[in-house]
This record gives sequence, structure tokens and C-alpha cells, in this order.
Amino acid sequence: MIDRRNAMKLALGSAAMLAAPAVRAQGAKPRTRIVFLGTKGGPRVGIGASNPANLVVVNDTPIVIDCGMGVSRQLVSAGVPIPSVKYIFISHHHSDHNLEYGNLFYNAWAAGLTTPIHSFGPKGIEEMTRDYWELNKFDVETRIADEGRPDPRKLLIAKDITEDGVVLKTPDVTVTAFRTPHPPITDNFAYKFETPDGVIVFSSDTNYNPKLADFARGADVLVHECLYIPAVDRLVAKTKNGATLRKHLLDSHTSTEDVGRIAAAANVKVLALSHFVPGDDPDVTDDDWTRDVKKHYSGRIVVAKDLMELKLPV
Ligand SMILES: [Zn+2]
Ligand SMILES: [Zn+2]
Repeated sequence: MIDRRNAMKLALGSAAMLAAPAVRAQGAKPRTRIVFLGTKGGPRVGIGASNPANLVVVNDTPIVIDCGMGVSRQLVSAGVPIPSVKYIFISHHHSDHNLEYGNLFYNAWAAGLTTPIHSFGPKGIEEMTRDYWELNKFDVETRIADEGRPDPRKLLIAKDITEDGVVLKTPDVTVTAFRTPHPPITDNFAYKFETPDGVIVFSSDTNYNPKLADFARGADVLVHECLYIPAVDRLVAKTKNGATLRKHLLDSHTSTEDVGRIAAAANVKVLALSHFVPGDDPDVTDDDWTRDVKKHYSGRIVVAKDLMELKLPV
């Protein structure tokens, strides 16, 4: 027999049961999140971490930042359907950031894309997009005629970025580009994403640039590239063009200690380290990546790993 107290317990129990799935769904799918898709700097493909690529999802809108080799596969691994991607941002035209740009779009089309994807990048992305269709003309035209697919050339809308400023504004997100030097490349943009749950800044590849700290000031998350000099020295000792390679790496990237200076000056809540150079040295530990950062920055540090997710607000 069910008395009043038991009836109350049952009622509460079923209410809790009803509430549980919603709570779980919320926990599983935050409104705003970053997924580090590929964390290894450089174009060489290996069996460890994938080449540079990141994902920001705001209100179910996936935005891809950089398209290193493997980005499509990493999206699938992250559980993000490729045709759901709405925007692609390329930071600069080093191949570890754009090699899979066209193919990511192609893979979205191959998986049933029907809505446009807008892409943004430094001067050259419009031309690269046109050239991609020349390269793949035969396949694309065959499939349109033979399989009744929509013409993909109308679904990829590329835009060259030529100056600093807002490049995209939607109800969910405002994206601002900021030029930062990555010698010898000057057409190279850091991006700021202002979302309802906080501000995320991606440094792009960059040399030590205190102006980047101004751009990132007060951000919730700064995702910054980093260079671990002792491991670079070990690497170049084994390389024929070692001296030239070392000079290139030091001139065009930011050492872990300098990343700490930027994060401290910018006073960001969370510093996420990614685009590791070298990115595949098994002897470099998380402690190595953070040790010199901590000389200057005392906030929360995340050493990004492929497919790691960072939820906002932080
Ligand atoms: Zn790179
Ligand atoms: Zn680069």
C-alpha cells in the first residue's frame, strides 16, 4: 500500500528521473566549447598527434580554425558531422594550416552538404578555392551529373582578409582578425571569437609579439603556439640543415617563456598551449611545456592534446 510519504518519494523519484536526461544532455553538450583537433606544429604526418586544427562550437555551430592534414578525420573522431561545419578560418598559408582546406570542404560535400560553408583567410584563400575546383573538376562534374549532387562550387564561399578588424558577426559569435608576424610571413592572422560564454583568442603561429597581448587582453581562453627550445636544440643536432632550421624556428615562433609573458600581460583566465614545436618528441613532458611559462604566468594552463575539449565559461 502506498502511503502519503511513499507517494511523495515516488513523485520525487519520477521527477528526478525526468530531470536526469536533461541534466545529462546539458552536461554532455555545453553551449560553447573548444576542441583541439590537432596539436602538433608542422606539416610532417606521424602516428601521434595530428597536424594543426581547432574547433569552436557555439550554439551547435561548428567553426574550424586551421586545416592541417587530418582535420576531417579528427572532426569525425570528435563526433562532429563534417557537413555541420559552417565556417572555416585559416590563420596563414603554411601548409600545416591549409593543406586540408579544400579537402575538408570536399569531405563535407561527400557526406551530404547542402548548405554553404564560409571560409576566411589571408590573401590567397579565394585563389586557392578557385584552384581547388580546377584540380578536382573531373570528379566534381562527374558526381554532379552521375549522382545528382549539388554543385559544390556554389557552397564554398571564400573571403580574403586583407586588414585587421571584424570579419564575421552572427547572433552567436563575433570574429576579429589581428595581423601578427610569423617571419617571413606577414599575411598571418590571430583570431578572436567573442561568444555568449566568453572570449577565445587563437594566436596563430607567431613570433614573440607583445601586441598580441593587447589583442588578447582579458580573454577567457588564449590558445597560443609554443616552442620548447631545449628540444629544438636536440632536433637540430640530428638535422643536416640544423643551423638554418633553428634560426627559422626561433625567429618565427614563441618560446614557452615568452608565451608566459604574453599570457601574463594579457591577463587571460586560461592559457591553452597547442601547436607544439617539436610536436612529436616523446621525451618532452607536460612539465617541460609549462615550466618556463610559469615563470611569468600564474593562471590556469592547459597543455592541449588531440580531441581534448575545453568548455566555456571557464
Ligand atoms: Zn604551423
Ligand atoms: Zn606557420
